[in-house]
Amino acid sequence: MTDCIFCKIIRGELPGKFVRKEKNWVAFYDVSPQAPVHILIVPTRHIESLQTVSSNDRNLLGDLMVAAHEIARDLSVDAGGYKIVINNGKQAGQIVMHLHMHLLGNLNKSPSFPV
Ligand code: AMP
Ligand code: ZN
Repeated sequence: MTDCIFCKIIRGELPGKFVRKEKNWVAFYDVSPQAPVHILIVPTRHIESLQTVSSNDRNLLGDLMVAAHEIARDLSVDAGGYKIVINNGKQAGQIVMHLHMHLLGNLNKSPSFPV
């Protein structure tokens, strides 16, 4: 999508600090971290939210969950536990209308956590 901030990051038109780039998803650091480790896991295809997925997206949605597991492991935040958040729709606090998962780790080092 032309004016979507995450599509622009994926296309390289805006900077992003990537931890992984795969065909169907990417992961990059949140620009305004709410935890010591705060990664966004984002499908490369523009999907607005869970309201607009279909059964055709089963594999992709599964891939995002496995991506969270792998990234948490690679960043060494899996042992202590980590939080996965999807803000889905405006009432849930979704600001960027391109589906994404927040991965938040090392929460013991972060006393307040608003996401
Ligand atoms: P949400 O409220 O779930 O839509 O979360 C959007 C997230 O995107 C917020 O945590 C923002 O800090 C993050 N964000 C916004 N712009 C950028 C950007 N240019 N690079 C990385 N993260 C961003
Ligand atoms: Zn997008």
